[in-house]
Amino acid sequence: MANGKQVEELKQILLDKKELIIKHLQGSKDSMDSFKSSECRDEYDYAEISSDSFKEGIIASQQVKELAEIEEALKRVQEGTYGVCEMCDESIAIGRLRAKPFAKFCTPCREIYEVEK
Ligand SMILES: [Zn+2]
Repeated sequence: MANGKQVEELKQILLDKKELIIKHLQGSKDSMDSFKSSECRDEYDYAEISSDSFKEGIIASQQVKELAEIEEALKRVQEGTYGVCEMCDESIAIGRLRAKPFAKFCTPCREIYEVEK
């Protein structure tokens, strides 16, 4: 079970990660804007740029999802339910929280969840 100090530590990790994602999302939005306003010289350039921004888009949407998970985890920190499995109410191992600070389920439940999904 994560103690108060460990929760504080993980909360800091979550906050840092959140800031990083927000910064990155802001950056990719800016590059999308400059892409839209730039003139393309030929079709080859266009394909190059659009496949890049396509990848950017995928990364961005993954980060939006991760951001939502981080927000949820921070909410649980505030409510005092952080580090407790949502499925079985057992505490999540600290090693697992360190690897994935926004984990919602303990390892056995995560496995069940992934199989059912
Ligand atoms: Zn569980």
